[in-house]
Amino acid sequence: MQLVWFRQDLRLVDHPALHAAVQQARAQGEAVEAVFVISRAQWRHHHMASVRERFLLERLNVLGAELARRGIRLHLVEAPWFAEVPAALAALVRERGARALHAMSAIEIDERRRDEAVSAHLSVPCRFVPGCCVLPPGRVLTGKGEPFKVFTPFSRAWLREIAAHGYSLYRAPEPMGAPLGWQPLSLPARSAHETRTLRDWPVHEGAAEARLREFIDDAVLEYGARRDLPAEPGTSRLSAYLAAGILSPRQCLAALHSRLGTLPLTRDEPGFAWLNELIWREFYRHLLALEPRLSMNQPFQLHTRALAWRHDEQAFAAWCEGRTGYPIVDAAMRCLKQTGWMHNRLRMIVASFLTKDLHLSWQRGEAYFMSQLIDGDLAANNGGWQWAAGTGADAAPYFRVFNPTTQGQKFDPQGDFIRRWVEELADVPATCIHTPHDGWRHKGREAYPSPMVDHAVARLQAIAMFRQLPTGG
Ligand code: FAD
Repeated sequence: MQLVWFRQDLRLVDHPALHAAVQQARAQGEAVEAVFVISRAQWRHHHMASVRERFLLERLNVLGAELARRGIRLHLVEAPWFAEVPAALAALVRERGARALHAMSAIEIDERRRDEAVSAHLSVPCRFVPGCCVLPPGRVLTGKGEPFKVFTPFSRAWLREIAAHGYSLYRAPEPMGAPLGWQPLSLPARSAHETRTLRDWPVHEGAAEARLREFIDDAVLEYGARRDLPAEPGTSRLSAYLAAGILSPRQCLAALHSRLGTLPLTRDEPGFAWLNELIWREFYRHLLALEPRLSMNQPFQLHTRALAWRHDEQAFAAWCEGRTGYPIVDAAMRCLKQTGWMHNRLRMIVASFLTKDLHLSWQRGEAYFMSQLIDGDLAANNGGWQWAAGTGADAAPYFRVFNPTTQGQKFDPQGDFIRRWVEELADVPATCIHTPHDGWRHKGREAYPSPMVDHAVARLQAIAMFRQLPTGG
C-alpha cells in the first residue's frame, strides 16, 4: 500500500504527492490510503485561529468522502504535538502495511523539522515532493544563485521562468477501486462565531473551484481598479482556500490562462494585476523556505532587532478591539474579529498603525492576526507584517508611514465600510466619517473613542526609532 500524508493541501486536483502515490500503486498493483494528522496542541502553539481549525476539520470530512468515493481510505490520526507525529505515523505504517509515504514538502521550520523526524523514524521511504507554489522554492534565484530579497526582480525572474517552461497541473486521480464507506469526524456544534465565519467559506466539493471560476469570469479584469476598495467585493476571496491547499496556485493560474487564452506576463496586459498577487504569494513562500529565521520571529533585516518597540497592553487591547479612535483602523479590526478575514488594504493600514503609530512590535500583530484569520498563513502573514513594519525583505522604506485618516479617505471615500463595522458612526456623513471628532455633532460622538495617538507626532517618533538603529535604518 502507498500512503499519502495530507497536510496543507486538502484537495485532489493538482496534488503531486497523491499523483505520485497513485502512479506507484498502479505500477505495483497496490492500494492507496491517506492520512491526516490532527495536531491541536501544536496548532494552538502556532496561534492557529479556532475558526481556521474548524474550517480545516470540516474540509477534512469532505475530503475523506471524496477520497472514499475513489476507493482511497483517509485515516485521521491524533498527535497533539509535532514531536509525537513520527511515532503516530510509524504505528499507522505498521498497522496498514504501507510501503512508502508520500507528502508535499513543507516550508515552515517546525513542519520541516517534523518531516525530517518522520523520515528518520519510519522504516519505509518517505517521498516529499514540492507543490505549495507554482515554482518550487529554490527555482527562482539571482544570477549568483541566491534568493531574491526584493519583489520586483523576483517577479521578473518568476515570469521569465513561466514563459520559458510553462507549468502543468495534475488531474484528480481516477478511482483506485470500489467506493468505500466514510465515517466523518464527529465535531461539536458550531459556535455562533464559527457559523458566521464559515458561511463565507463553504467547503463542500467544488465550492472553492466555483468561487475561482466566478471571480475569473466576472471580476478579474476589474481587479486592478477595485482591489483597494474594502467596501466592494473586488478581490477573489480565495485566500482561505489557498492557505489550506483546497485550491492550488496552479489551478488559479490555469483558470486565468483559460479565461484569457494566454497568461498575462507583462504589467499592461489584462489580468496581470491579479497574477501579480499570486507572485507575491510565491515570493513570501520562497523567502520563508530559504530563510528559516523568518519562521522564528526574527526580522528579515537583522539590524532591526534593535528597534525599541513599546510594551503597552492597553494600547494593544485597544488596537485588537477596534477602539483606536481612527475609524478605518477600528472598522478593519472589528471586521477581523467578527469574520476572521480582512481586506488586504486594511491589513496594511492596521499593521502600519500598530507598528508606526503605537510602536508595538510586528511580532505581536503577526501572532494576533494568526489567532483570528481563517486564511492564516505563516509566509504571507509574516511577509505582510514585516513589509508594514519596515523590517522585511522589500519592506516599505521606514520613513513611509501610512496616514490612517488619508488612507480611509482614499480607499473608503464614502465611509461605507466604516459604517458597516463601527455602529457608533452609523449616522455620520461621508464628509466627517474619517475625522468624526473634528467638530461634527452626531449620536455616537461620546460612544466612539477619541484618537488614541496624534498620528503626526507618532509618525515622527517611528522615524526616529528607525534612524537610531546602529546601521542607520
Ligand atoms: P486577492 O487579492 O484576490 O489575491 C489572490 C491571492 O493571492 C490571495 O488569495 C492570496 O493567496 C494571494 N495574495 C494576495 N496578496 C498577497 C500578499 N500581499 N502576500 C501574499 N499573498 C497574497 N494572506 C494570507 O493568505 N494569509 C495571511 O495570513 C495573510 N496575512 C497578511 C498580513 C498582512 C499584515 C498583510 C499586509 C497581508 C497579509 N496577507 C495574508 C496577504 C493578503 O492580505 C491576503 O492574501 C488577501 O487579502 C486575501 O484576499 P483575496 O483572497 O481576496 O486576495
